[in-house]
Amino acid sequence: MASRYTGLIDRYRDRLPIANETPAVALGEGGTPLIRLDNLARDIGFDGDLYVKYEGLNPSGSFKDRGMTMAVTSAVADGVDTIICASTGNTSASAAAYAARAGLTAFVLIPDGKIATGKLAQAMIQGARIVQIRGNFDDGMRLVKQVAETAPVTLVNSVNPFRLQGQKTAAFEICDELGRVPDYHALPVGNAGNISAHWLGYKELAAQPGTLTAENCNDHSYSVGGYDKRPTMLGFQSTGAAPFLRGAAVDEPDTVATAIRIGHPQSWNAAWAAHDESGGHFDELPDSEILHAQKQLATREGVFCEPASAASIAGVMRAIEKGRIEAGSTVVCTLTGHGLKDPDRAIEQGGGLAEIETLDATEAAVRKRIESGL
Ligand SMILES: *Cc1c(COP(=O)(O)O)cnc(C)c1O
Repeated sequence: MASRYTGLIDRYRDRLPIANETPAVALGEGGTPLIRLDNLARDIGFDGDLYVKYEGLNPSGSFKDRGMTMAVTSAVADGVDTIICASTGNTSASAAAYAARAGLTAFVLIPDGKIATGKLAQAMIQGARIVQIRGNFDDGMRLVKQVAETAPVTLVNSVNPFRLQGQKTAAFEICDELGRVPDYHALPVGNAGNISAHWLGYKELAAQPGTLTAENCNDHSYSVGGYDKRPTMLGFQSTGAAPFLRGAAVDEPDTVATAIRIGHPQSWNAAWAAHDESGGHFDELPDSEILHAQKQLATREGVFCEPASAASIAGVMRAIEKGRIEAGSTVVCTLTGHGLKDPDRAIEQGGGLAEIETLDATEAAVRKRIESGL
C-alpha cells in the first residue's frame, strides 16, 4: 500500500489523545533517522550497538515539533487563536512554525542575548511575536505560566500535557525500527519533559500487547506495542546547569549548551520517576566534554547536532568508560536539535579560516596540504 508520510499524529493517532475526526496541524514531523555510530563505537572500544536518533531532522530542526504538532492540533480543535511559550530557542522556533501553519498568533519569550542565531532567525521569519525578557528561561517560564492563567492563550511549553504525548512517539519509532527495546536510552535534560515523555512511551510499549510482523512493521498506520522490557534511562546535564545532580533547583544556570540552560526543571518529579523506575542514572558533564562530543560526532560520523544534543553522547561515552554500560548493550542517544541552530558555536569549534593569499600561492598550498593529508 502506497502511503505518504504526513506526521506522527496520523501514524500513531490510535495511541494519542486526538479524536479521529480532528485534523492534524502537521509538517511531517517524526520519522527521524536512527543512525548507527560504528566509527565512534570503534574509537572508544565499545562492542555493543550505538545509535543516535537524529531529532534535528524534524521540520523546525528539533524534537520540539513532536510535541508542538500535538499542542497546536489540540489548541485549534479547542478554538484557541493565540499560543504562548517561554523558550531557550527551539520551543519558540517550533511554536512559530506550527502557529504559522494553523494561522494562530504565537508569543515567544526568550532570554536576552542567550538564544542561538538559527533559532532566533526561525522565530523571526515565521512571524512569532518575540519578547525578549530581562532574565533567563526560568524567569520566562514563571511569567508565561502566570499570564496563561488568566489571559485567553494556550501555553505550549512542555507543561502542556499534549507536548509529552507527542514526544513519547520517538520511543515508538525506535522500537518499531529496531524490532526490540534498547538496553539504554540517553538524553540531554533541561526542563526534563523529553526524558519523561520517552519513559511514558516505553512504558506504554511494554504495557500494551500488539503483534509486530515483517509485513506491517513499515506500515505507517501500524500501532506498536507488546514489548517485554523497558530501557534504562540516562539523563545528562551540563555542570553549570545541573539541578538533578544537585538535588535542587539552580538559580543561575550557565552553559554553552543554551537549550539546557535551565535551573528550575518543570518535569522534576516525572524525570525522577523515569530515573528510579528504570534503574537509570543522571550525570553532569563540563561544557568542554559536551563540545568535544559534538565535534567527534561531526568529524567521525558526519552528524551535526547542536551542543545541548551532544550531552547525550558525551554522557554515554563516559558511562561506557566507567563500566556503567555493559559490553554488548544496545544504546540509543537522542540528538535533540540540528547543528545549524547554533552556527556561531560550530564556527568557533572549527578554529577559524586561514588568511587569503594570491591564487598561485593558494594552489601551491592546497597541493601541499592534499599531499600531507592536512
Ligand atoms: C528543549 C531541548 C532540550 C531539553 O529538553 P527538555 O525536555 O527540556 O529536557 C535539549 N536539547 C535541545 C536541542 C532542546 O531544544
